[in-house]
Amino acid sequence: VVARGRSVLNPSAAPAGPGADAAFVCEVVTIGNELLSGRTVDTNFAFLARVLEAAGARVLRHESVADIPDAIATAIQSAMSRVPLVVVTGGLGPTPDDVTRKGVSVALGRPLSLDPEILENLRTRWRARGGRDPMPPNNELQAMVPRGATVLPNPVGSAPGLQLQHEASTLFVLPGVPSEMEAITRASIVPWIEARAPRSVSYFTMRTHGIWESVLAEKLADLPTVLPGYLVAFLPGGGGVDVRLRLPGGDGASVDELRARARSALAERIGPYAFGVDDDSLEGVVGKLLVARGYHLAVAESCTGGLLAGRITEISGSSAYFERGVVCYSNGAKTALAGVPASLIEEHGAVSEEVARALARGIARESGAQVGLGVTGIAGPTGGTPEKPVGTVHLAAFAPEGEWHRKLALTGTRSSIRDRSVASALDLARRLLAGLPQPG
Ligand code: AMP
Ligand code: MG
Repeated sequence: VVARGRSVLNPSAAPAGPGADAAFVCEVVTIGNELLSGRTVDTNFAFLARVLEAAGARVLRHESVADIPDAIATAIQSAMSRVPLVVVTGGLGPTPDDVTRKGVSVALGRPLSLDPEILENLRTRWRARGGRDPMPPNNELQAMVPRGATVLPNPVGSAPGLQLQHEASTLFVLPGVPSEMEAITRASIVPWIEARAPRSVSYFTMRTHGIWESVLAEKLADLPTVLPGYLVAFLPGGGGVDVRLRLPGGDGASVDELRARARSALAERIGPYAFGVDDDSLEGVVGKLLVARGYHLAVAESCTGGLLAGRITEISGSSAYFERGVVCYSNGAKTALAGVPASLIEEHGAVSEEVARALARGIARESGAQVGLGVTGIAGPTGGTPEKPVGTVHLAAFAPEGEWHRKLALTGTRSSIRDRSVASALDLARRLLAGLPQPG
């Protein structure tokens, strides 16, 4: 049934160029009607893609298939004809709509039979969780195993995973419940790949804020010459652009050396737009700057309605430097909570440079914090005027280092305007505290 494409097993036959070192390739098949109807987001694929790649197997293709045995069988057959490793998740549950076992059985021509050991485990588990005796016969379906399968223990649930060899390809079949899929992947698949893959794949990510993707690409145009063998990806989203480099397999240099080369080449070209690396966040970086200076921070937000304080306090340990956040949505609240003079609002309007500055200064003064941030703007979709259209946002940062204001002219939905206002406010604080040039 299954025809082999062997070249993928042979690193020397892999295509040349960046990424050629990741010659151990695989495909992922996710199964479930709920995935195809858009009711469930395919987070299992995202997890598998990251973890398999980190272990050293490059994912070349992903297919989602409905709960139909023949469709599942076809997907598995064709994936196994292309690559040495196929991972399947979903459809191993105890209900009649879970037909992945049947699909595997058809794909590989292996009959299903009841595995007494799995059945005994299922019964023990059923009783331990207080299930009625006898266990419903539906649950016994989970003990049906295609001939020749190795059973992979499930440390967190009832349905075990399965591993099957067919010609030169290995198939892993995992339950769909994310926690169970993750546990079996880590316990059984990752070590299996690590024992076979030529080397694991490593990345270096430089995180930026406040620079367009296209401008960034221009600044990094000479990267292929400066960092040969590195594979560059620009990943916009979340209020900034990440530049992610896949490190080359290369010249005997260690991963640390390869990362250091990437870091210095990128830092030199991106300059103050780069706020961190890998898993760094703007709020985390601002937190570190505050701690280093022994400062406390207070924020007064209008159009972001507490989102700024929310992000700052996502950092565990933020109580060491975050004093308070107030949501002063009405004009009265701006005066009462952040000491903004009513006359200033009267004269310039609530969405203005003057009021943003007064919010930042005022909340610092009211709270005794050294650093204050103020945000006021029009998030839309209603409320814009010709002079102050939707997306007009004024930010201010006040600190012993100085007082900065920035006006944003954002477009997009209410939620994206609010999110980007928060990111820009954090970036304003970052640059002010770090002694970098003012953005904009
Ligand atoms: P199953 O093994 O097909 O019975 O899946 C059990 C549950 O796991 C489903 O109801 C979904 O909630 C979840 N699930 C299955 N496949 C996925 C997937 N690819 N991504 C995220 N959740 C999933
Ligand atoms: Mg299902």
